[in-house]
Amino acid sequence: MPLSIAVVGAGFSGAVVAREFAEAGNHVEVFESRDHVGGNCHTKRHETGVMVHVYGPHIFHTQHEEVWRYVQRFGTFKPYRHRVRAIVGEQAYQMPMNLGLINAFFGTTMDSQEAERFVAARAESSIEHPTSFEEQALKLVGRELYEAFFAGYTRKQWGVDPKELPASILARLPLRFTADDSYFNHPYQGIPEHGYTPIVEAILDHPNVSVHLATRCSRARLGTFDHAFWSGPIDAYFEFEHGRLAYRTLDFEPEVVAGDFQGCPVVNYCDAAVPFTRITEHKHFAPWESHNSSVIYREFSRLCGERDTPYYPVRLVQEKAQLLEYVELARAESGVTFLGRLGTYRYLDMDVTIHEALKTAHVVGAALAAGTPPPSFVVDPLG
Ligand code: UDP
Repeated sequence: MPLSIAVVGAGFSGAVVAREFAEAGNHVEVFESRDHVGGNCHTKRHETGVMVHVYGPHIFHTQHEEVWRYVQRFGTFKPYRHRVRAIVGEQAYQMPMNLGLINAFFGTTMDSQEAERFVAARAESSIEHPTSFEEQALKLVGRELYEAFFAGYTRKQWGVDPKELPASILARLPLRFTADDSYFNHPYQGIPEHGYTPIVEAILDHPNVSVHLATRCSRARLGTFDHAFWSGPIDAYFEFEHGRLAYRTLDFEPEVVAGDFQGCPVVNYCDAAVPFTRITEHKHFAPWESHNSSVIYREFSRLCGERDTPYYPVRLVQEKAQLLEYVELARAESGVTFLGRLGTYRYLDMDVTIHEALKTAHVVGAALAAGTPPPSFVVDPLG
């Protein structure tokens, strides 16, 4: 007998669970508060013809072959390697940290092994178990590189001292002693030929799925379904009864320029004195297209207010207690499963979101079929 399923949020998390339940023969209603699907991955053609990543740069990269195969079902991904430059003072460097950056920064011509020994000699090896972003960076690359490339950018991005941030944030960035300047290490990388929004639309395009845009669904209404999935902010589900969890939001200052602006998709401005964190030049996300003009976004990060779009869960060490209160409330709730970046308050990439959504649909689907209560979380938000 088909079940009635509610899904809140039409980003990758919501779309993937909706699709899985629809394909299993259930009726799925998706409620999205914005007027478009795709969440913060939403893309849109600008009047210049350039495909714009409306909520900032999104590059699809994954180590999960099944996730890579899954997304190909819904559109063409073009080969794409992300390249970033970082500006410190008056000088531009390759980013992430590689042989080119190290030699340019220290004014040397070291080979790989020399550079590795050189950085190891500067790294603070006395830090055995780094707990913060700062300790992790000092242990990895030492103070000079940390101060130049990470300290200022990270303060601007997160609004706090890197001593207060989790070490895990730095693990996102590779450190290489080769000339490889590709931003990601993953074997599967690409960008959808026509942007992300048509991919999410295609995932949701199933006769058993109805999508309600610009529509919020009350908790009371969610209770009328056989089961609900919540990919919105976990604190919003509980109407902020333990206060608001901290998120960072972004402001973009768009500008249209003739020709080419910076020759690559993203340039990071690492100095604290520059108010923005990075400049994105969108047409470089689609190197298979050609445009006479260019759209650039200067990106500014700040604390997310009540009316702003949340982007990054801050997850400071002292926020753990507040998060725990929400997790306990969620665990006591029946009939709803929380998932995704906002639903589990974790800094997730698109591919991890899809991977977890597939797993969540599988586990919840099996529980419903067996007549046992599905879990509130399939992936532990505190893990
Ligand atoms: N980061 C930095 N300097 C850089 C690039 C990154 O300090 O030039 C730090 C910063 O704290 C940032 C984190 O590394 O938030 C992760 O960077 P990533 O490029 O993955 O951020 P995203 O694209 O998700 O905003």
